[in-house]
Amino acid sequence: MPELPEVEITRQGLEPLIINRQIKSVHIYQNQLRWEIPSHLTNTLNNQYIEKISRRAKYLLIDFKNGQLVMHLGMSGSISVVPTSEPLKKHHHFELKLDNSMSMRFHDPRRFGSILWQNSNEQLNLLKHLGPEPLSYDFNDTCLYKSSRGKKKNIKAFIMDSNIVVGVGNIYASESLFLAGISPKRQAGKTSKNRYRILTKCIKKILLNAINNGGTTLNDFSNVDGEAGYFAQVLSVYGCNNMPCKRCDGTIKRIVQNQRATYYCPKCQK
Ligand SMILES: [Zn+2]
Repeated sequence: MPELPEVEITRQGLEPLIINRQIKSVHIYQNQLRWEIPSHLTNTLNNQYIEKISRRAKYLLIDFKNGQLVMHLGMSGSISVVPTSEPLKKHHHFELKLDNSMSMRFHDPRRFGSILWQNSNEQLNLLKHLGPEPLSYDFNDTCLYKSSRGKKKNIKAFIMDSNIVVGVGNIYASESLFLAGISPKRQAGKTSKNRYRILTKCIKKILLNAINNGGTTLNDFSNVDGEAGYFAQVLSVYGCNNMPCKRCDGTIKRIVQNQRATYYCPKCQK
């Protein structure tokens, strides 16, 4: 599943290929994604220019004069920019034909992705209550500490809550907690200010590393140029069940928390 680093890499890859391009036509081949693709897009986007592409949490936001296209990759989505003449594949559900004989195509075998629209003066509900961006200044030393008071859930579930901070997915939550030396079983509301200060730094570091390395290695994601998009990345704990800890003489353990796999070292994560 594409996480924040993969989405950010997609954004960076798409930017030079689509900015200032004009949409010549819009094609919806399958509108049943997680939510239905608005049928008005074929009119709304026609002849419009792409002004900007940004990211909020795991949403890609493409700016036009009349509003914003909001895209989410879901479980298996990917976006590529290819010559319009290239044959469509089975799971290409949406296509923007550009003014340079290139096409931006959305590919999604499992169809949990989404393509939505918001007018310039509105904001979709799903974007309204998102917590701060983890790589922004808003996500500072005291941010996690303040929002954790009174929270009984475990710290891993807490940092994966997008109302608290966005974009910390399952892999990166395990990796950040390992780097910070914090047990994923610790109660969020009973974790000290100093530990949260360290954890905040670790979350930023882990995500930046992943972006710089081109994302983690996963199966079904294509980079914008059509190559495999998840580059190999060294993970310290995730997927490392029963392997020796890199930091101490302990052994990495796999547990299930909130229906998700967690990997950690019981010896050096307290
Ligand atoms: Zn250890």
